[in-house]
Amino acid sequence: MLKRFINLEEISSDSPLKIKTKVPAKFVNLPQEEGKAVSDFDLEVTIFKSGSGYDIVGRYKGKIKAVCARCGSEFEKDVKDEFHYALMPLSAAGKGGDISHEDMDIKFSNEKILDLHEVLREQILLHLPSKMLCPECPEDKDFISYVEEEL
Ligand SMILES: [Zn+2]
Repeated sequence: MLKRFINLEEISSDSPLKIKTKVPAKFVNLPQEEGKAVSDFDLEVTIFKSGSGYDIVGRYKGKIKAVCARCGSEFEKDVKDEFHYALMPLSAAGKGGDISHEDMDIKFSNEKILDLHEVLREQILLHLPSKMLCPECPEDKDFISYVEEEL
């Protein structure tokens, strides 16, 4: 069975939850202008309870079909990335204090149920380049692609 909803309250600080699942293409649901998932996505997530919040570490892999921003042709693209962010209760927002991990994203939410489909969608959107170019089109010199090169 594919796991989708995680009850965060079941995670204790001494036993992180590790999940390895697949998200079927039809549930990836990217906005139309960003592309369309054309494969099931592999998703691995480990959730650590940390103080009043959670640390969420994971990786995903899949394939999307997108339209080139320059020539307009459709192309398929493998997308994969790793992510790490902190999930903190709303009450921690604005307190600065102990949430100063500079290289980590923080998401504030009081939800006790984590929707893995939502996590995947957010992470794909965060990591997609702002301008999708097909393999035929060279990148602009002044265009900085954040993640593509390293992969
Ligand atoms: Zn192109």
